[in-house]
Amino acid sequence: MSDPDLMQKVISLAKRRGFVFQSSEIYGGLKSCYDYGPMGAELKRNIMAEWWRSMVYEREDIVGLDASIIMHPKVWQASGHVANFSDPLVDCLACRVRFRADKAPKVEKGSEVAYKKEGKALRATANRSYVCPACGSPELSEERRFNLMFRTFLGPVDPVGALADKLAGRSLSAQEIREIAEGELAPATVYLRPETAQAMFVQFENVQQSLSLKVPFGIAQQGRSFRNEVTVEHFIFRSCEFEQMEMEFFVKPGTQKEWLAYWTEQRLGWYRRFSNRPEDFRLRQHAKDELAHYAEDCYDVEYRYPWGYDELEGIASRTDYDLKQHAKFSGKDLSYFDPAETDPATGKVGRRYVPYVIEPAAGATRALLVYLLDAYCEEQGQDAKGEAKTRVLLKLHPRLAPIKVAVLPLVRKDGMPEAARAIVSEFLKSGVKAKYDDNTAIGKRYARHDEVGTPWCLTVDGQTLQDGTVTLRDRDTTAQRRIKVAEARQTIQDLLNRAG
Ligand SMILES: [Zn+2]
Repeated sequence: MSDPDLMQKVISLAKRRGFVFQSSEIYGGLKSCYDYGPMGAELKRNIMAEWWRSMVYEREDIVGLDASIIMHPKVWQASGHVANFSDPLVDCLACRVRFRADKAPKVEKGSEVAYKKEGKALRATANRSYVCPACGSPELSEERRFNLMFRTFLGPVDPVGALADKLAGRSLSAQEIREIAEGELAPATVYLRPETAQAMFVQFENVQQSLSLKVPFGIAQQGRSFRNEVTVEHFIFRSCEFEQMEMEFFVKPGTQKEWLAYWTEQRLGWYRRFSNRPEDFRLRQHAKDELAHYAEDCYDVEYRYPWGYDELEGIASRTDYDLKQHAKFSGKDLSYFDPAETDPATGKVGRRYVPYVIEPAAGATRALLVYLLDAYCEEQGQDAKGEAKTRVLLKLHPRLAPIKVAVLPLVRKDGMPEAARAIVSEFLKSGVKAKYDDNTAIGKRYARHDEVGTPWCLTVDGQTLQDGTVTLRDRDTTAQRRIKVAEARQTIQDLLNRAG
């Protein structure tokens, strides 16, 4: 769909129907933080469950891990996050906005640019290759590196109090105060993890040995990660707190090329499986100068967002960088002994090596945005009175849909509510998310369930009590047919399985 308002429509529906709310909204909201409402919580869980199913349950070579969010601070020194995980930040001297230099609008260095300051139209020469994204000004502060990790303190310590004691009554320069402050804070400093990946490297040996796993094998993990993002963009596309789905696949050195190709195809196929427009997903190989310091090669799964193709998932060939870094910083040997391999150095059977790693790293919250955009549809039709009406529906894949089936008594009398309740309880007992709904006219109820993506509605009417049948309505076609109440559960289950 090339609807210029698509993003706004999806954001509006997400709030109206309980998918995504702004965090702390009654207090004016918190920048770049979001809450997932009743429908969003289900959609996110379903996306994560499908990922876990394809990564862990449907395979024998990948196992799960659920690690702590706060880890030993040395982890982040070894991984390079303390030194390198930062954005170049700049202040606009004209409008005071703080922004990321690498994301700012590009201009020709030395060219004359027009901008506005306090309502006045000005022109000036650009002495950098970018300008302020808010006002277009080339009057900018120096670039400073800003680390994206959230820093906090572990233990019953009050580092600020200790620091105050240390500084009281002393006359010091800003530089001296900064050095003392860093020194005081350092012993208690810990970080909220900026990615889930590191725990899988740090626990490589425990996981491998506890299950006697043989390379190639993978460790999968889902969970919250935290980044103090400066750039707020595109709703939940980039947020400070997000849900990751990462897998580290450990392979024999020399086989990483084939495994990278394998995982890029797997991951692209996974996204397409739940999409209405699989052609909106594509792979893009990173150019050499885009590669992270640990990566030998990398592909992004990109999606065609309303603002153009952009990143959805990265699949990186990380070499043996991570395990070697953690071996170096911890002093622990993180190599693997392969009894079946021939050692190329000695020609003998049995080879010790540090495995290479392929990492598909996905974001569940970003995938949720993608599937809302993919599912949003408007259809022109007529209401009951024959007047033109737009039908809004979310064509969510049935496996992702928050509610699988809505059970609707046509009217709130003549035993219809009781019959409907009985059907709902059958579904709930068998683990299929069903919803009883008798609120407002039947047409409005259909519309409401179209908007949250409920794939099927069962309507209990006068005929139900006579012949034990209900109508089954399909969300996408609105076609209706009668089925037996006694077969309703099996019918929906079959439809769900077929959609798989
Ligand atoms: Zn500005």
